Amino acid sequence: MNIVMLGAPGVGKGTIAQMLEKKLGIPHISTGDILREIASKKTKLGEKIKKYLNSGKLAPKRIVIRSLKERINKKDCDNGFILDGFPRTKSQAKALGKIADTNVVFDLHASEKAIIQRLSGRRICMKCRAIYHIKNMPPKRKGFCDKCKVKLAHRADDKPKAIKKRLKVYKRKTEPLIKYYIKRKLLKRINAKGNPQDIFKNCLKALGE
Ligand code: AMP
Repeated sequence: MNIVMLGAPGVGKGTIAQMLEKKLGIPHISTGDILREIASKKTKLGEKIKKYLNSGKLAPKRIVIRSLKERINKKDCDNGFILDGFPRTKSQAKALGKIADTNVVFDLHASEKAIIQRLSGRRICMKCRAIYHIKNMPPKRKGFCDKCKVKLAHRADDKPKAIKKRLKVYKRKTEPLIKYYIKRKLLKRINAKGNPQDIFKNCLKALGE
């Protein structure tokens, strides 16, 4: 089964996708993670991508699609995958349609206030990609990953200026995808206001699990 997670940055797509990955045994693929990995390298491409990430602007389509194609061609995607952060525009959705089928699209929604609160308190482990929140989902030891014990990071784009830009980009470029997938009868709207366990249960219910 191929799943797409739609929703504004900070709404909880990554957290829920990681829970679905464990339950369904299909990989969680975050184009943001793939791009952050590229940006961490001291190459010309890495430097270029870093600028997009830090400003909250969308990275060039060609690079994102090439990276995604490479990832979903790997063996662990044979039974499906969960896309988080892709597609982000109508043109990316069309490109996805040419590479793979889409079976379900979850649209996670929450208020802008809740989203800003989540993003500013979010911390991530750069090693295993685990996601924490200083208040809602704190690690056992403050500032460190439960699993890897490494120091947690505060993403450069989880700071006020970039958050505003990312929300603006989402509204203009990604929100129109909701209608796109409603038309194709693939959209499942999920209230993402509560705690991750409840949101996860609602997703499973929508899948008939
Ligand atoms: P995310 O981790 O999904 O919040 O993505 C972080 C950043 O990576 C975004 O603000 C964009 O700069 C870039 N990015 C992630 N996915 C895409 C995509 N599908 N198309 C273009 N840029 C992307």
